[in-house]
Amino acid sequence: MPRGRNKKIKKGEENPEDYKKISPKNQILRGMKDIIPADWRYWSKVFEVFENMAREYGFFRIETPVLESTVLFKRTSGLTSDVVEKEMFSFTDNGGDNVSLRPEMTPGVVRAYIEHGMVSKTQPVKMYYISPVFRYNRPQAGRYRQFYQLGCESIGDFSPVLDAQLMIFVYNFYKELGIETSIQVNSIGCQECRPEYRQVLLDYLRGKRKKLCDDCKRRLSKNSLRVLDCKETGCKEVAEDAPQIVDHLCDDCRDHFVKVLENLDELEIPYVLNPKIVRGLDYYTKTTFEIFPVTENDSEQSSVQELGGGGRYDNLSENLGGRSTPAVGFACGVERLVKQLKDKGNVVPPVQMPKIFLAQLGDQAKKRTLRLFEDFRKAKIPVAENFAKGSLKAQLEMANKIGAKFTLILGQKELLEGTILFRDMESGVQETVVLDNIVSEVKKRLK
Ligand code: AMP
Repeated sequence: MPRGRNKKIKKGEENPEDYKKISPKNQILRGMKDIIPADWRYWSKVFEVFENMAREYGFFRIETPVLESTVLFKRTSGLTSDVVEKEMFSFTDNGGDNVSLRPEMTPGVVRAYIEHGMVSKTQPVKMYYISPVFRYNRPQAGRYRQFYQLGCESIGDFSPVLDAQLMIFVYNFYKELGIETSIQVNSIGCQECRPEYRQVLLDYLRGKRKKLCDDCKRRLSKNSLRVLDCKETGCKEVAEDAPQIVDHLCDDCRDHFVKVLENLDELEIPYVLNPKIVRGLDYYTKTTFEIFPVTENDSEQSSVQELGGGGRYDNLSENLGGRSTPAVGFACGVERLVKQLKDKGNVVPPVQMPKIFLAQLGDQAKKRTLRLFEDFRKAKIPVAENFAKGSLKAQLEMANKIGAKFTLILGQKELLEGTILFRDMESGVQETVVLDNIVSEVKKRLK
């Protein structure tokens, strides 16, 4: 039965009226972002630098599906993490399966590692990605609902050198882009030593319960470590004097942590020990780290958002039903990085425009110019055109705007004579050239 015009539409239901008008509902969704052509040069610069470096460090690209089974994230990121608790875009698909848009990349990458039997390859398997992820959080500056993460996973080895090398990579990556960073490092222990620390922390936090925010009060029994990185003032004050996990690490975790730091020292990578870097996801073990931009004055430093983070996750594969496989990785947000580049005025040069512009007058000439464009393209000489414009004036204006050196003008008369006009844009001098020779003529003059 067709829905009446005034019938009340329930939340989540389709409203046929939405299809008839341009309304705010047809605008981009909250927390989403277009990457328009004018911005793309920053993005491609970031991608290019990252991909080159990833290859230098021996990583290979992986891409996993945007949509995965919801349970994958519940078993990895953890039921008590904010991401799984309240930030997933989850729904039941037409076949009745519970699926989610990936809120991060690591679970999918580890799933692929297990599913493709990568355990039989030389370990560690080193993979990188540059991919969009989705979190249904409250949009604000530097926080979107769809955003890109670039990152690396090194799966299949325990060595602390791998943890250090990832931090060295990430530090050098930002440096290459002209962004000075500080790495904050911590160790959150393992299944052996963390329970004891959790209890010590819990005893301390219970005594300060009144000062904690509602979220942290709730977290107390489920995941008390998260209180340490809460941004609320009261919680921050409580966290300041909290017992530190580094004092409760087992021998293995302490040894691992010391070796990670020794490796960083060896390469003189600046880092800061920060006992509050506990990361939001449940799967981390041992090393955790976050990367912050260095601000000009110290007072700003405490309020800056982190650019990226990572750590070791030695139990994740096992949690997914794979073999016990140690691993370490990091992920960085691209939107925050691009903002840094722009704010710092790190100029990424605009895309190089062609030096040749093809202008045409009249339908016949337009058709011939279309072919000419293909001839230049095959000869690998970039040319620009605007087939939508008919007047010579408008086309010359455009050639000037893009900084073309030469404009080739094909009109009705030239077409009949088998010639084309070759105009030097700086001097305005025009010569007549044989149309069939134009590609080789341009090649010669560009030299
Ligand atoms: P996480 O996976 O939460 O450790 O995040 C890794 C990095 O992704 C962060 O350091 C940010 O740079 C970026 N990031 C996380 N959440 C968002 C978001 N909602 N919007 C934009 N970037 C984000």
